[in-house]
Amino acid sequence: MSRDALETVAAAARACSLCADLPLGPRPVLRVSSTARLLIIGQAPGTKVHATGIPWNDPSGERLRGWLGMDRATFYDGARIAIVPAGLCYPGRLPGGGDAPPRPICAPTWHPRLLALMPAIALTLLVGSYAQALVLGPGAVADRVRAFRDVLPRYFPLPHPSWRTVGWERRNPWFAEEVLPALRVRIGEALAGE
Ligand code: SF4
Repeated sequence: MSRDALETVAAAARACSLCADLPLGPRPVLRVSSTARLLIIGQAPGTKVHATGIPWNDPSGERLRGWLGMDRATFYDGARIAIVPAGLCYPGRLPGGGDAPPRPICAPTWHPRLLALMPAIALTLLVGSYAQALVLGPGAVADRVRAFRDVLPRYFPLPHPSWRTVGWERRNPWFAEEVLPALRVRIGEALAGE
């Protein structure tokens, strides 16, 4: 029942055209399943993800999989891992450079309906500032990541894994030393049903 209902809502989300002014047009990118144990909420697709329709199919995705200690086959196992960004469509670029924020109408429209039909989610990764603001409210990403234990076992905050985080990681060795090992343990537990 919830599987059919989820497929119906996901199909409606994939057909969404609420933001008719998107620079490349609407192309919602999401993966959901009623059996998924892990949910990844990121920001919004980039151009490569928009072109392929495959979430995290870009260098940021490679970096994220490295942090998770996960190969592509596991990452894209839709029966176990759901991927629903804060904005489902590529939002375009900011005038000063960088991708625009996720469309504000998107998460309130789709997240509650989708998440209500994924009862097996044990852990949600909040990847980047938009996902964290959406779920946890305002706050600084680095502070949130450093205090990851405060929101366990339900959530795990992470930075957005853009090329900029390479230097950030170097300046903040605690991320690799403390956060990533704990992240991998918690993911293992969640995928095992804990
Ligand atoms: S960004 Fe979200 S609300 Fe806007 S068209 Fe895409 S799916 Fe619809």
